Amino acid sequence: MVDLKGQYSKIKKEVDLAIHEVLDSTAFINGKQVTEFSERLAAYLDINHVIPCANGTDALQIALMGLGLEPGDEVITPSFTFIATTEVVALLRLKPVFAEVDARTFCLDPTQLKKQITKKTKAIVPVHLYGQSAPMKEIMDLAKEYGLKVVEDNAQAIGGDYTFPDGKTQKTGTIGTLGTTSFFPSKNLGAYGDGGAIFTQDPLLADTCKMIANHGGKKRYYHELVGCNSRLDTLQAAVLNVKIALLDDYIDQRRTAADYYDRAFAGHPKINTPFRAPYTKHVFHQYTLILEGADRNKLHEWLASKNIPSMIYYPVPAHRQNMFAAFQSGSQQLEVTDWLTERVISLPMHTELDEEQLNYITKTVLEFLN
Ligand SMILES: *Cc1c(COP(=O)(O)O)cnc(C)c1O
Repeated sequence: MVDLKGQYSKIKKEVDLAIHEVLDSTAFINGKQVTEFSERLAAYLDINHVIPCANGTDALQIALMGLGLEPGDEVITPSFTFIATTEVVALLRLKPVFAEVDARTFCLDPTQLKKQITKKTKAIVPVHLYGQSAPMKEIMDLAKEYGLKVVEDNAQAIGGDYTFPDGKTQKTGTIGTLGTTSFFPSKNLGAYGDGGAIFTQDPLLADTCKMIANHGGKKRYYHELVGCNSRLDTLQAAVLNVKIALLDDYIDQRRTAADYYDRAFAGHPKINTPFRAPYTKHVFHQYTLILEGADRNKLHEWLASKNIPSMIYYPVPAHRQNMFAAFQSGSQQLEVTDWLTERVISLPMHTELDEEQLNYITKTVLEFLN
């Protein structure tokens, strides 16, 4: 699905140098590269505060902790997402409420979202799934109307953007109260290990999240809040400092591969290629097809037999996970989510796909379907 080796071979010199600088300094924890990277990311996103942390799941947890919610408060998330988005809600003794997605965008459907808002709702966590922004204008309007906080799970869409009807464009993750991301190696901005970050324009929230990530304190051995220990390590920051300069090129390479796939599959009666919402730049963390009138699982096996990786993101939606049995969400009717779960398949998507590979992949997919 990804070619991390191919990508590394092109930046080996810079990365090796950056890593050796850290080794020579032995500042493995909170070295200067961590601050440097936070500043670069803040400039790239055009946001005032970036709080680095250990991974994207921690970023979501710390962001939610920063909002100071009470046990039992309701947090609305899509069910059609990676489990981390919803898991942290339950972990914090908040109540996850699963909302429906739009079958075209794979992101929260604002009309369905509105129906899930109750007196207990305190926050919404939209996910910019597969690299495309959720409809943020509608989500922010609902948040304003009902006084809700918004935490954008931007783990799959770093570098993407959203254009409001008035023409104003903002990077995904910088529109809500807080945004979070992951630097898991396969993400669009991937480290060589785990990493994550939280972003906000709000200085007070930034301060709170920074403290939470540091055992609830600013000054060593003085603790104001119950927090956790979540740091981006210096080696990862050094790698990310090299890669952030290349993020826009990486996105272009992903978009070029997506264009190739789109052209090859255009008009095929059994294939829905990814919808490109007019309000956003899709950064193609994943290239995900919806198959109709074809056996998705058989295609997955067929591709594997031809040495082509493919993935089902995600085979079980959150509301059907045993993890949430206590919330009885399994009986919830999320028809679009269930429908998508049975029909989506993601093809290889990364920065190193060449025409020969793309030709082989598309030809093999079409051979199965025709
Ligand atoms: C990857 C991912 C996360 C979690 O990131 P980790 O760094 O693996 O903890 C959270 N949400 C979404 C949507 C993701 O894709």
